[in-house]
Amino acid sequence: MRVDETLKMVIAACDAIIASESYLTEVDQKIGDGDHGTGMALGMRAAKEALFMKESFETVNEIFKTAGMTMLNSMGGASGVIFGSFFLGGVRGKEAITELDGKTFLHIMEESLDAIKKRGGAGVGDKTMVDALEPAVLAMKEKDSDCISEMMETAARAAAEGVEATKRQIAKFGRARYLGERALGYQDAGATSVAILFQAMSDYLKEQKTGC
Ligand SMILES: [Mg+2]
Repeated sequence: MRVDETLKMVIAACDAIIASESYLTEVDQKIGDGDHGTGMALGMRAAKEALFMKESFETVNEIFKTAGMTMLNSMGGASGVIFGSFFLGGVRGKEAITELDGKTFLHIMEESLDAIKKRGGAGVGDKTMVDALEPAVLAMKEKDSDCISEMMETAARAAAEGVEATKRQIAKFGRARYLGERALGYQDAGATSVAILFQAMSDYLKEQKTGC
């Protein structure tokens, strides 16, 4: 997939989060502090603006870096670091990517996951966004396809299953950790955002019939 198509895919991801603001707020209000939707939408609006401001991008790295850095700087707090790293973590120090295929996307997401786990200290089962991201990465590894739309569809499905799994977990981070077993039955807001991001990118690739 070309750089200009990658840009449109990332903007579609931003739009999906912006459109989900009140849903994410609702999800976070159940067990968290209720600021996830506002924070994510703020970061994604800023990211979108930063992506539009630049005339053109030469590499996929620049797109992911621009989105990630802008989220990091605009959102602040733990979410800013974590979701900034979602875009930023995997392209740091990587050689220029001018064509984004399925395997390259997997490598980016593998390194993003690593960066996020190191920064945040959460693992699978802790009821965080890692519960959507790690299964997505593992599912893509198993799929091992060059076709990015196939890989994105795989990631979206695994992330959605990961969101469902968070309903059966007790939280180890955030305000939800004080709830203990009372957090059971409720999904994690961060994991929900990850699933929305992958689903939006998958939908975009399918609509455009691009990515393979
Ligand atoms: Mg919060």
